[in-house]
Amino acid sequence: MSIIRILSEAVANKIAAGEVVERPSSVVKELIENSIDAGARRIEVSVEAGGKRLIRVTDDGCGMSRDDALLAFERHATSKIQSAEDLVAISSLGFRGEALPSIAAVARVVLETRHASEPSGTRVEIAGGRLRDVKEMAWAGGTSLEVRDLFFNTPARRKFLKSESTELGHIATLATHYALAHPEKSFRLSSLTNEILSVAPVSGYRERVYQVLGGQLLDQLIEIGPVERRILQPLPADGSAGDETEEEAATLRLSGFVSRPEVQRLNRNNIYFFVNRRLVRDRLILHAIAEAYRNILPSGTFPVALIFLETPTWQVDVNVHPSKTEVRFRHSSFVHDFMRDAIRQGLVASRPIAAFPLSRAGRTEVADEEEVATEERLEKEALKPASHALPEARARTARTAASLNFELTPPQPRPETGFLSLEAAAVSLYAPPLLPQNAAVKSPAGPHARGTGELPEDLEPLGQVRESFIVAANSLGLWLIDQHVAHERILFERHVRMRQERKVEGQRLLLPVILELKPDQLAVYREIAEELAANGFEVEPFGQRTLAVKTAPADIPAADTERLLVEILDSLRREARALSIEDLRTKIAASVACHAAIKVNTPLDRGKMEWLLRELGRTVCPMTCPHGRPIVLKYSLEEIQKAFKRT
Ligand code: ADP
Ligand code: MG
Repeated sequence: MSIIRILSEAVANKIAAGEVVERPSSVVKELIENSIDAGARRIEVSVEAGGKRLIRVTDDGCGMSRDDALLAFERHATSKIQSAEDLVAISSLGFRGEALPSIAAVARVVLETRHASEPSGTRVEIAGGRLRDVKEMAWAGGTSLEVRDLFFNTPARRKFLKSESTELGHIATLATHYALAHPEKSFRLSSLTNEILSVAPVSGYRERVYQVLGGQLLDQLIEIGPVERRILQPLPADGSAGDETEEEAATLRLSGFVSRPEVQRLNRNNIYFFVNRRLVRDRLILHAIAEAYRNILPSGTFPVALIFLETPTWQVDVNVHPSKTEVRFRHSSFVHDFMRDAIRQGLVASRPIAAFPLSRAGRTEVADEEEVATEERLEKEALKPASHALPEARARTARTAASLNFELTPPQPRPETGFLSLEAAAVSLYAPPLLPQNAAVKSPAGPHARGTGELPEDLEPLGQVRESFIVAANSLGLWLIDQHVAHERILFERHVRMRQERKVEGQRLLLPVILELKPDQLAVYREIAEELAANGFEVEPFGQRTLAVKTAPADIPAADTERLLVEILDSLRREARALSIEDLRTKIAASVACHAAIKVNTPLDRGKMEWLLRELGRTVCPMTCPHGRPIVLKYSLEEIQKAFKRT
């Protein structure tokens, strides 16, 4: 019995052509995809020498009949599609019928398999594209594919491979992705010396993330959805035919995990997006994610994200690229907006407030250095008059929330290992000591579940610590609010809003501030002069390289105007040309807010503290300042009780 067919030339020509076998991990990818398509519930991968010497993938899927076992190695031989129409709605991971022949052409391959309809199994041996041996054998069921000596007959390509550990790293990352996307299956990846990944079936993504990446990472993530949105086609112009056929309506479903704002990565390597459980790279999606984090993360930093999108197959074209990692959405802007909104909503709804004391983990990568430097300078200056405040001041400027000088010991200190990136996870997965992925799944919420929820309205300010941090309390626990960054967030959002509405008002300075600029500063000034004017800076030339500043945004102390302008110009020096107008506005607003905000070491009366808490509660994002620093720390009643051993 045979289910594999050779595609007609016409169909084959419609398939995105190109090489799929680039390196060991691409072989592993194709074989795992085949196992998943075969309905396997258990997939085991073993490799030797980073996959260069051996890759073996064994599954408990449907297996192949003897005829199919031979046909499978023909070009364009597939059981997954037949006609050109099938290409429009691909529901399997594979469909090109090219993986097995391509792999067999450049390696020594042994296939062992049995289909349930046949009494015995089949063993096929192929090397360098030549059939060596076919025989009947006893085989329990499922399929095993062994690939030895990849590129043995194409030495030039073999030379191109990287070190064993690099290749193994790629394989581990890949297996990790598939494991994440298919929680109901068990996955195992081992090398000669190590078990790299081993996960039993679990009921959902959350449990799987916990198994694969650990509770510490999970703790840094906000769960999104599942949320659904329906694409409705506009009614035809004549107003007829209100009934939607399946072709016209589609429901998209999104779920996943995104990082809390205090987690900042310096590149996009930790953003993973799966469409119908296929890992894809997509610029549109990266853009949607960036939009969701606008004004939550500083520009130039990126979140960690694992996003799973389910869509009807005809909404997405996967026949774009031979490695099937690119897709084209039929309604791409719909997908983009859906995704942006869902993530944004998740971020806002969770209003993640840092647990107190905050784990050092989230701050391993610091926000934009320049911005931080400014903050530090401002703070140091603000602190100058009160030199007795130095111990706290130093702790504050040390920049890690964890080093805040509070003596409260966490009831269960978190291990101070860095925040685990997916890549790091993949690497540490095979670097002994192994992560405890084999451990039975504990409650993923774990003991460190974050206090989330909005900034409560009933917070009662009790006073300030060193005239810098507001201490507040309500029935949920004890709260600490950094007064400078809290005010900064309030002013920032207000400035952005006013700028959008073209309502930023400059305040006339008693005496114009005369500014002498360096040539590069002048160049930046010329580029952004118009935007500066719209932000409340009325500036006039006053000699060749000198400017006279006549107005500055309200709230900025006159003495600060010069510094603020120079700071804006300097921070843009490197990137003015690359910056979008949106980013430029954000930067200006952040700088203005930073300079206008009340400083640390400023006494506040009760009324001012209440105002600050109330206004902070009204911001879209009360948890992080525009530079990504935490604003609020919470010490929950539960933690207090634990610390007092009352539970
Ligand atoms: P494609 O996956 O694009 O169809 P492949 O060359 O990867 O092409 O595989 C060819 C065919 O071999 C598949 O269509 C499938 O019928 C069969 N096959 C491959 N791997 C397996 C497997 N692990 N279990 C069952 N059948 C398989
Ligand atoms: Mg395939």
